[in-house]
Amino acid sequence: MKTTKQHREELLQKKRDYYQRTKEERKEHRRRYYQENRERILHSPRNREVRNRLRANLKREVILHYGNGEIVCSRCGFKDIKALSIDHINGGGNKHRRKIKNFYYWLRKNNFPEGYQVLCMNCQFIKKIEEDEHRWNGIQL
Ligand SMILES: [Zn+2]
Repeated sequence: MKTTKQHREELLQKKRDYYQRTKEERKEHRRRYYQENRERILHSPRNREVRNRLRANLKREVILHYGNGEIVCSRCGFKDIKALSIDHINGGGNKHRRKIKNFYYWLRKNNFPEGYQVLCMNCQFIKKIEEDEHRWNGIQL
């Protein structure tokens, strides 16, 4: 007759054996699960930090590309990435951007199309006013 203790030991050993036996299998399963659900996993709220880091890296990559290797406003030379973003040189950026969920991702996915530049928030604001004035003058003429 087995004692409770022996019985418990046996069960534990079985668990350990099973764990060892299926180790590789589970590793492979996790890897495959991650591959197949990568986007969903990365976008889950639990991975907010990872996501933010990825987004920051992506923004950096895009700004660097359009800044020819520099993080800088193409008009005034402002260098803080927090206030820099990509501007559609010929306007229409907002409309275009609204259609695209992830603008930076879209730019990279499309091999950094021409017609964009790095501007700081001030310069974007100024550009918008200038464009509006230009349009207004056009109507008045
Ligand atoms: Zn600027």
